[in-house]
Amino acid sequence: MKTNTKYIFVTGGVISGVGKGIMAASIGAILKAKGLKVSMQKCDPYFNVDAGLLNPREHGECFVTQDGAETDLDLGHYERFLDEEMTGNSIWTSGKLYKHLIDDERAGKFGGKTVQLVPHVTGLVQQTFLDNAAHFKSDVHIVEIGGTVGDMEGQHFIEAIREFGTRVGRENCLYVHVCYVPWLSTSQEFKTKPAQNSLRDLREFGIIPDMVVARMDVDKLVKAPHVASKLATFCAVSEDAVVLMPDAKSVYEVPLNAVKGGVLAPLERFIDHGDPDMTQWEKLVKSIEANPKEEVKIGLVAKYIDNTDTYLSVTEALKAAAWKVGVKLKTVWIDAEKATEDDFAAVDGIVVPGGFGVRGVEGKILAANYCLEHDKPYLGLCLGLQTAVIAAARRGGVKKANSEEFDASKDANVVYIMEGQKGKESTGGTMRLGNYPAKLVKGTLAEKLYGTTDVVERHRHRYEVNQRFVKEIEKGGLKISGTSPDGKLVEFVEGIDTKFFIATQAHPEFRSRPYRAHPLFEGLIRASKK
Ligand code: GLN
Repeated sequence: MKTNTKYIFVTGGVISGVGKGIMAASIGAILKAKGLKVSMQKCDPYFNVDAGLLNPREHGECFVTQDGAETDLDLGHYERFLDEEMTGNSIWTSGKLYKHLIDDERAGKFGGKTVQLVPHVTGLVQQTFLDNAAHFKSDVHIVEIGGTVGDMEGQHFIEAIREFGTRVGRENCLYVHVCYVPWLSTSQEFKTKPAQNSLRDLREFGIIPDMVVARMDVDKLVKAPHVASKLATFCAVSEDAVVLMPDAKSVYEVPLNAVKGGVLAPLERFIDHGDPDMTQWEKLVKSIEANPKEEVKIGLVAKYIDNTDTYLSVTEALKAAAWKVGVKLKTVWIDAEKATEDDFAAVDGIVVPGGFGVRGVEGKILAANYCLEHDKPYLGLCLGLQTAVIAAARRGGVKKANSEEFDASKDANVVYIMEGQKGKESTGGTMRLGNYPAKLVKGTLAEKLYGTTDVVERHRHRYEVNQRFVKEIEKGGLKISGTSPDGKLVEFVEGIDTKFFIATQAHPEFRSRPYRAHPLFEGLIRASKK
């Protein structure tokens, strides 16, 4: 089979959580900086069809793509590093693969054949690589395999990437193995044995990687010269294909660190396309390291303060805005269940992020009320718009105002369930998901921040503002500043006569980029600056 696209497969070894996704995305960023068209995808071993129903405490943020898929937070990294919008097909879980195959089997598409792990599951995995590369018209398509090599549940992915090399030609595939090299403090040395073992596991599948990334403790790096040669000798890779990657202060340093660590030699053997222009990353790291004196404290009123990865895109969007404005960001986590006015008084601005379920919601309404009362900068994201509307309606006389999601009588349901959503509350993939346009009202803060009246943002919600209560909401201090083009759904609200109080039914955080702050977040940081 002939191919114009090159494929990079990134596997992990020893332990998970050492930044395989960031490394994969950084390789993508470097190739993009060489002028190549790069796309990415993740293969995740778990059996959930998507991340929509996963508990964020366990799994972190549910990232929403433009076409409305509820995915893993790694796709957020891919978008921030590549500045390319992913699709629902940019992630394939085992659950999604099996569902697809079983649906085809039930539809009689296999013509009487026995459906098997090899070649059917592995074949479908490979088809997703080809389809994505074709869809994005990529020069290089990067595939990250979730988990670590040797995990029972990820074997079909490893087998698929091995077969794929034979299918499209080994020269068109680059295998990258990211493994952890622990520091042993008792003997004061790095230990490569676990990495050697994971490379042996990979060899058992018939894969000898073209690049080995050794993740290690930064402070001890001076004691590391033997690591590359040892891994090279024991693992059948050349020494210049072993890239030592110390911990970085910020994930956005990783593309530059990877270049310094020697990623270009093995990459350029694979695809020769001139030097990468890393200016964008150099500029970004400079602004991260600028260390400005002025500090802005932003309170995040949230439910999962024990797993802040739940709000990853929000915190990344806040950081990007602070770098742009040139202030030091201090994120203060405010437990929505225990929040008091003192917590809100102690910060310069407040974000109420998205969320589901009644737990902590009164704390979020209290935050919105406090900001309206004290003219404190407020940015509401999805649920954060709904809590703002509830707060305003209560101030405007609807004493029992609430959302139908929590507890609302028919005469106080200022937020109610959207048409067609009833009965679907605990099902997957059924919300209003993905990109939707909004029309902003001329002369509003929303229009001023965006610099246009036509915006598109990503969505993930089931409930919406009940426009029957517009008068009371206005009396309580909020006006509608943007709706769906047909006027039916409220997309933006903002304070009447406030310095900065704005909320959107969407999730603008998904479209923020580290080097291109989102206007709503930038606005919040500017307004929160003393
Ligand atoms: N739970 C709310 C809804 O479904 C808000 C969702 C969110 O914040 N993403 O409408």
